[in-house]
Amino acid sequence: MGEPACRACHARTGHLVLDLGEQPACDYFPRCDDPGPDPVYPLQMWLCSSCGLAQLVADPTLPEEPRGTEPAALVAQAADAVGRVATAGLLPDGCRVAEYGSPHGGSWLGLLARRGLAPVHGGEPADVVLDCFGLMHSANQSEALAERVARVATGGVLLLQYHSLDTIIRCGQWNALRHGHYAYYSTTALAAMLAANGFSPRTAWRFDLYGGTVLLAARRDADMRTGPDGAVESLLAEDTRVGVRDPAVLGGLQRDALARANGLRDWLVAERSAGRAVLGYGAASRAVALLRRAGVDRGLLPAVVDASPAKQGLRMPGTDIPVVSPAQLAARQPDDVLLLLTDLLTEVRAAFPAVEAAGGRWVDAETVGSCPESG
Ligand SMILES: [Zn+2]
Repeated sequence: MGEPACRACHARTGHLVLDLGEQPACDYFPRCDDPGPDPVYPLQMWLCSSCGLAQLVADPTLPEEPRGTEPAALVAQAADAVGRVATAGLLPDGCRVAEYGSPHGGSWLGLLARRGLAPVHGGEPADVVLDCFGLMHSANQSEALAERVARVATGGVLLLQYHSLDTIIRCGQWNALRHGHYAYYSTTALAAMLAANGFSPRTAWRFDLYGGTVLLAARRDADMRTGPDGAVESLLAEDTRVGVRDPAVLGGLQRDALARANGLRDWLVAERSAGRAVLGYGAASRAVALLRRAGVDRGLLPAVVDASPAKQGLRMPGTDIPVVSPAQLAARQPDDVLLLLTDLLTEVRAAFPAVEAAGGRWVDAETVGSCPESG
């Protein structure tokens, strides 16, 4: 295969920085009685040398997972974000808003309506054009961004929220890479993409969500009375410090992937040898690549608990591990519950106190078996 063309700037020079091999579509949860094998596709990240956008190589054009239970962390962050943007004076009462949502849910329109913003539909211009984890789902990044900026009314603002690439690098979040997520934005790369559309970042906010999520406010260059503020400058400086455009830095994700998968497998084998009962929690698409890379089957992890009724009776993609209901936590009384969604720790401890009451532990799959000093 030759070099791919950048999804944003169409350049053909870049580097393959992460290769997770053949993976199933991580939101293709087959029924338990479907014996498989599930279809698999290459899962690779490529870094454009020209604009700096990290992106998905293959495009099997797969459907997104159904909207499941919206995690409380996401709901709380949305409220926090809307409050901060309003405080900055960017959400005046009565202004029009257009939202480009994520297929995973998490609309801000309800929060914005309570502040007096009126939604517009059907491609009409808006004073606030909001994209919350939506843009990454577009295979054609240049076209998708052009569509959003075109809807920003004169004097209006474009709000883009993304899980930032510097976070993915700093936290070794190699499993952020998944089919259907075509772009992994650094503030640097997004600023270049905006510049190609005559827009510039004006200000930004950082949130702890997913280890580091950025909400960037951009304006048309003609509407910019001042340049980017300190928050934007600080994000760009952090990008430089981390090395978001350096293929060697991104290559560290490949080593992280191997270390996490080996760590998980070793831990599960040790648990089984010690006669400890383990259940997984969170049939998350993010967990699929980890379980596959670690070669985990139901012999090591008998089931994954998930609160979404839509996922029960299904199995984890690319494995024979069934998804079961939360009632199984009480029924099986596991010694350890392997949490496959780090963001949910506070939530699940509160929701299922019976686990710890019975002497069980919640164990974070992101850190299990890893050796923090080796990194
Ligand atoms: Zn590019």
